[in-house]
Amino acid sequence: MSEMKKVRLGRTGLMVTKTSFGALPIQRISFEAAGELLRAAYEAGVNFFDTANAYTDSEEKIGAALSDVREKIIIATKSAYQKGDPDMVKRNLELSLRRMKTDYIDILQFHNPDFCPGEDDPAYQYLLEMKRQGVVRHIGITNHRLFVAHEAIDSGLYETLQFPFSVLAGEKDTEVVEKCQKADVGFICMKAMSGGLIREPRATFAFLQRYPNVVPIYGVQRMEELRQWLELDANPPVWDDELAACVERERKELAGDFCRSCGYCLPCPKNIPIPNAARIQFLMTRSPYKPYLTKEWRAGMDRVDECIHCNHCKNHCPFGLDTPSLLASQKVWYDKFYREHLDEAER
Ligand code: SF4
Ligand code: SF4
Repeated sequence: MSEMKKVRLGRTGLMVTKTSFGALPIQRISFEAAGELLRAAYEAGVNFFDTANAYTDSEEKIGAALSDVREKIIIATKSAYQKGDPDMVKRNLELSLRRMKTDYIDILQFHNPDFCPGEDDPAYQYLLEMKRQGVVRHIGITNHRLFVAHEAIDSGLYETLQFPFSVLAGEKDTEVVEKCQKADVGFICMKAMSGGLIREPRATFAFLQRYPNVVPIYGVQRMEELRQWLELDANPPVWDDELAACVERERKELAGDFCRSCGYCLPCPKNIPIPNAARIQFLMTRSPYKPYLTKEWRAGMDRVDECIHCNHCKNHCPFGLDTPSLLASQKVWYDKFYREHLDEAER
């Protein structure tokens, strides 16, 4: 088998596979299934695995499956950080090391803070000290907010930026990619399939190949998904009119106000499952709808009626969505669909 294509991840100097592994979805599968998936990716040549302290048991699964080949892989993980609690990063880092049975993290990223920690920030200082001690090799940041992304690049303090990028990206997102390239900041691409909304992996793959500095971490939960990305890596589709037209179709269908499922509007005081409820129509029409006809989903969508219009979600949505209105219209759509598919619904 030929070696997988590698990319230099900005000034980290790390050579990572252009097709890398996003370990968020392995939370949803068993230890055994996750182990098989991680191992299969590694055996196929994938050398870069991105996880987070907050992804429940994802780090433990990585530790269980890959700690014997630790030196051969590159691990990026993330720690939440709230101002006023600098020890949070220390606690999380210690936990990540234990869970992954390792004594160093290749890239430690601040996990989507709503500000860009500066040089004097105590948590940043702590990470610098960890870097001096070799416990953390590189410091990165992840974010959904354009202004934090720009600040992080301009600050010169971060070696990597993890940011959403897909065929749906607008000019402003592309500017971030280009700016990273100029500043030699590694660009780790999250949400390459826009949280499951994009249906065309071939188009996604070909599109991202056009950006040499972009390293997608494809979220993988099933062996077929892994095989699909490996197959595309081995035989990359050439960007042509057909793929361009396909991307155009996706863009048209998903144009405008749609929920990207980032979850930054949570928590909702009424426990409404906003990240999926606000895009239920897309989910149910662009992927199998049966999983959303369960009792649990019926109850989740019913909670939309309990919205107290506190606007917490609206005020925290980085995409400027009017989330309560979006939820209300999605609920109307769901109710109609549910009525029409009553015979298939779990009751
Ligand atoms: S406005 Fe409604 S949906 Fe949004 S956070 Fe408040 S209760 Fe939840
Ligand atoms: S409503 Fe906005 S903040 Fe909430 S999940 Fe959707 S895109 Fe993210």
